[in-house]
Amino acid sequence: MIRLTTGFVIALHEFPPARFAELMEHLRPAQPVPLSELVVRKKGGRSNAGLFAITVDDGVGDNVRSLAALFRARQWPATFYLPTNYLDTGRAMAFQWWWRLAPLLPRRRLDLPSGAIDLSSPGAVEELTRKMERMWHSGRVDVYLPFTLDLADAVAQDLGINRAELEGPPPISWPEVEQLSRDPLLQFESHGESHGAMSEMTEEEIASEMQHSRDTIEEHTGRACRHLCYPFGTALAIGSMAPRLARRYYDSAVTMRLGAFDTADLWFAPRIPLYPQNSLLAARMKLVLHCTRIGRLRVQKLRETKPAYLPELPKL
Ligand SMILES: [Zn+2]
Repeated sequence: MIRLTTGFVIALHEFPPARFAELMEHLRPAQPVPLSELVVRKKGGRSNAGLFAITVDDGVGDNVRSLAALFRARQWPATFYLPTNYLDTGRAMAFQWWWRLAPLLPRRRLDLPSGAIDLSSPGAVEELTRKMERMWHSGRVDVYLPFTLDLADAVAQDLGINRAELEGPPPISWPEVEQLSRDPLLQFESHGESHGAMSEMTEEEIASEMQHSRDTIEEHTGRACRHLCYPFGTALAIGSMAPRLARRYYDSAVTMRLGAFDTADLWFAPRIPLYPQNSLLAARMKLVLHCTRIGRLRVQKLRETKPAYLPELPKL
């Protein structure tokens, strides 16, 4: 079935290299190629059957270092999408702070400078997690980052530690990106500047993010930056303006929507997100269901005959 795939892009976040190497064994005989090759072939009307690109989001230092070492050892081409403010400032992004804070939040009422919040009832932290996730996809960074940092201050005070000890993981440094980008196997492309939802930005803000992140990456790598990855990658976070503007600055733009590459819009291109906790079978099922003609027909048939069952499918 893997042989029947019509071209796809894998989306990774933090992923242990040994686990990824194991997963790659199970994707054979499909072959990894540079993302730019997948795009050029699609633009030229050539099939990407049996080919795929590896992409890694967010520029987390340890993750980029360890995966880049694996990709070079195995000669697997890959693309790293970098949010440039994260690398420029070395400061963690709001969602990275959140995942460190969430398990440590005190289950009581907190009076924060940005407002009071009551975490004393059962399920309150889970409810706040859902609210935060909604904010990342449909809110502005300048609204939810101060609130997140207020929560970090409250937790640090409770634990008697410095807030910096709760900060999310540090990014890969620009000198390391400069070094790694000398290897033609590794591409560094844009994940925006602020990693904010583009649906919440003005046209000028989106254009500025697209242009400045591209220019910053080109300055550091000395190579063209022609591909974009929308922050958070859902339709809600992307909005309608960003795909229109992306055409002006980039040759492709990817989302977190599942699907095959060859049949998609190049500036709203789907990927197949894989996570370390996915079983190998689940990873293959995702590919077969979304990236082969037979799988897509099967999904369509299920949609027609068993509508109640379908919502479970994307979770595979
Ligand atoms: Zn991201």
